Amino acid sequence: MIRTLYFHSGVETPKHYMSSSRCFALLLACPLLACAADRPNVLLIYGDDVGYGDVGAYGAEKIPTPNIDRLASEGLRFTDGHCASSTCTPSRYSLLTGELPLRKERMGIAHGLSNMIVSPDQFTLADLFKAVGYRTAVIGKWHLGLDDEPIDWNGRIEPGPESLGFDHHFIIPATNDRLPTVYVEDGGVVGLDPDDPITVRRGSYEEPIPDSVAGTPYPIALLEPDAVTAYPGDHAHSGSVINGIGRIGKMKGGKSALFKDEDIADDLVREATAFIRESGDEPFFLYFSANDIHAPRWPHSRFRGKSDHGLRGDAMVSFDWSAGALLGLLDELGLAKDTLVILTSDNGPVYIDGGYLDGCKTCGSGGADHGHFAAGPYRGGKYQIYEGGTRVPFIVRWPGRVDPGVSDALFSQVDLLGSLSSLLGVEIPPGQAADSRDFVNALTGKDSKGADWIVTCSFKDVAIRHGEWKYVSDPPQLFNLREDPGERDNAIGDHPKKVAEMQALLERVRARSSRSGTD
Ligand code: CA
Repeated sequence: MIRTLYFHSGVETPKHYMSSSRCFALLLACPLLACAADRPNVLLIYGDDVGYGDVGAYGAEKIPTPNIDRLASEGLRFTDGHCASSTCTPSRYSLLTGELPLRKERMGIAHGLSNMIVSPDQFTLADLFKAVGYRTAVIGKWHLGLDDEPIDWNGRIEPGPESLGFDHHFIIPATNDRLPTVYVEDGGVVGLDPDDPITVRRGSYEEPIPDSVAGTPYPIALLEPDAVTAYPGDHAHSGSVINGIGRIGKMKGGKSALFKDEDIADDLVREATAFIRESGDEPFFLYFSANDIHAPRWPHSRFRGKSDHGLRGDAMVSFDWSAGALLGLLDELGLAKDTLVILTSDNGPVYIDGGYLDGCKTCGSGGADHGHFAAGPYRGGKYQIYEGGTRVPFIVRWPGRVDPGVSDALFSQVDLLGSLSSLLGVEIPPGQAADSRDFVNALTGKDSKGADWIVTCSFKDVAIRHGEWKYVSDPPQLFNLREDPGERDNAIGDHPKKVAEMQALLERVRARSSRSGTD
């Protein structure tokens, strides 16, 4: 039975965004009740800069991750799961919209004052769940821009996640190293004192925000290096110093609204817990977007020193704790068997990021740090086109529906939207989520092969995986991952026919959407 459902992104959406553009006509493959068995809660636990080798179940020996390891033992652990890009913003864009960052402008790393990167007209992962009556929320790092004009941190901040299908949001606007270091809840800064308004600016750190602008002043790391107490000796982020840490940008005001870095994990778990509890018997979709393990890493004191990999490893212990707290809540509420849990990361690992030295003083992206291999056996990491940049931990647990084990299926996060729409029995509106395909059988362990091909990106550099081959666009490189998983031997000159084939496939993907026929 096919029926059409018209839906809206949420009753609390601001009026001026309640335009017809936010109404999608959806086809449901079967009536709501008949599909109840395929309407699990979905908890997406998204790590930040967590590498393939940062998890015990993936081989980490220097960092204890018992909770994620438990999830892996109870679920399906993918060995070839990928984010779409080796940096935050484009990966998250692909995750939520089902579009690769190939044809989109502004697909670099969003700065702290960036406006909305996803258009309210776009169909999102949250819209998919809204279509079938789920409660939806994003809690944690956002980094996809806010508002459509200069952001008014002291007033209403909209459009935001509420215009993309999320009923509720409690977010870090960009990243923990960017200003303002506050939470935004449902369109407003949490805990803001109107007598201490927030001003954030970019530009030269040698020109602080003038005294004539109201609000609490903060030292500028470039001018007052002694104010940097949490990472002494490292002034790579030379802007305003908040909580003893130099940030990107300049800020005044908002003192009562500042988050404490060491409390972020607890704050996000508290908010997520409240959302899940409040969901009661209603199905929920929670995009839990952890701050860990992005730099600056300043986990709670109870996690510090708990790994053999410096603060970076300790932040990973914090991430594992967050995952464990949410899994424990599902157990407590009797929801574990009715909840599809997906744990993965937005890009590969980095030891030194923005100059924050807390994992390794000698390593760049990927590679070894005193016996810890954050990208596992793979080359590169964050910012890079090699496997370490996008092959990340990817674990799926759904008791009774997904058999525990290990899957070598090739899977990209850009295909989550298409796969979950198949699971829920919802057709994606025409022209939306153009690159997201249906690999629900791979996601649930019924198919061990997964995608024939996937595309991954690193800024303007693009790679395509097809079978055992990987082609990188710039500079042109070809690797046979079966023989050379570490991408050490560029075989570009040895296989001209294969190169031409991979280039042609990549051009087809660039030129038109996957769901409109490219395969
Ligand atoms: Ca990231």
